[in-house]
This record gives sequence, C-alpha cells and structure tokens, in this order.
Amino acid sequence: AQPLKDARFLVSASSVKTLGVCHAEVAFVGRSNVGKSSLLNALCHQRGLAKTSKTPGRTRLINVFLTGPDRWIVDLPGYGFATGPAKEREAWQGMIEGYLRGRATLRMVYVLVDAEVGPTRLDLQMVDWLREADLPCRIVATKADQVKPSRQLAQRRDVAKVLGLLPNDIAWVSSEKGTGVPDLRMEIAATLDL
Ligand code: GDP
Repeated sequence: AQPLKDARFLVSASSVKTLGVCHAEVAFVGRSNVGKSSLLNALCHQRGLAKTSKTPGRTRLINVFLTGPDRWIVDLPGYGFATGPAKEREAWQGMIEGYLRGRATLRMVYVLVDAEVGPTRLDLQMVDWLREADLPCRIVATKADQVKPSRQLAQRRDVAKVLGLLPNDIAWVSSEKGTGVPDLRMEIAATLDL
C-alpha cells in the first residue's frame, strides 16, 4: 500500500495542552508561503488536505492529520507575521515552543526553506532553537524547480553551508514537479513506523 495515502484531517488546536496522545508524530514548520501546504498535499497524494488557499482561522492553529493508527503529521502555523503585532508573534512563539517541547512522541521536525531564496533569518532562528532544544530536525528545501538547472549544484552547496550542512543532508523537493516527494514520503513513513 502507498504510505500516507489515507491521511485525513483529525483536529485543530490552539495549544499543546488540548492535544491528545498518539504513538508517533512528525511536524512541519516554515514561514508562510514556503510551500508547506502544497508539500503536505503532495506527500499525502491529496489536493485539499492542507489548504493551499488557507482556511481562515485554521492557519494560526496546530493542525493534525491522521496518517495511520495513532500516527500524526502535524502542520504548525507558518512564521509569517514577523511584521505583525508583537502580541501575535509572542502567541505564535508560545504555541510553537509549547508544542515542540511538550511532545515525547515527536520524532522529527521538518523545517521548510525555499530552495531558491535560501534560509531566512527566521528559518535560521528556528533551526538554532531546535538544535539547542535537542530536537531532531531535518531541512526540506521546497520549490526546487525554481532553481535554474545550471545553478542547482552551487545553490545546494550554498544553502547547505548557511545551515552548517552538506547538500545531501537536505531533502530537495518540488511539489509541483513531484521531485523528491516519494523519497521524503518513504522517510516519513519509516520515521512513523508505518
Ligand atoms: P504555505 O503558505 O507554506 O502553505 O505555501 P503554499 O503551499 O500555499 O504555496 C505558496 C505558493 O508557492 C503557492 O503559490 C504555490 O503554488 C507555490 N508553490 C508551492 N510549492 C511549489 C513548488 O514545488 N514549485 C513551485 N514553482 N511553486 C510552488
């Protein structure tokens, strides 16, 4: 059977406190517009699972998808409102940090960065924070199709270097073309014991 194929929306939460228990979970985080919804849909072979059009009200919540018996894929709200009110930023930070620190079943945090843009200041802050907190994290470079073929190698090397990684440490994906998606899907399925 195809892993992650029967994923379905389970629940939204505004705090880790209201989340139930599961056997294993992986989380996705990244700035708004990095291609997170598109990637989740591609991984789960579905169009409308994570709404690329942004369901109002749900974008600032923790969204949980069930992808097997007690196996969760957790969509964390994007860090898109760095320019928004300080109160909202603090609320976002509290919710994300509470979630990340509060889940013993969390097996991997996938941090999405734009392959063409490279890691932003906020991406680097997120990765540093995860490393400090000793949480397992994996970088996924999205929209890899946007990098010109002639620049792929150099861009991969540059993006990896900024993160203190080697190009092969990063999962390079294009939800649009499907590149890298099957490999990442298998990796997630293995991480969740599926
Ligand atoms: P989110 O805000 O992180 O959930 O990002 P979305 O999935 O909604 O995508 C943001 C924009 O990037 C949309 O216009 C998508 O069509 C576009 N996009 C997403 N993935 C890809 C990709 O793999 N390649 C290209 N070229 N564009 C993409």
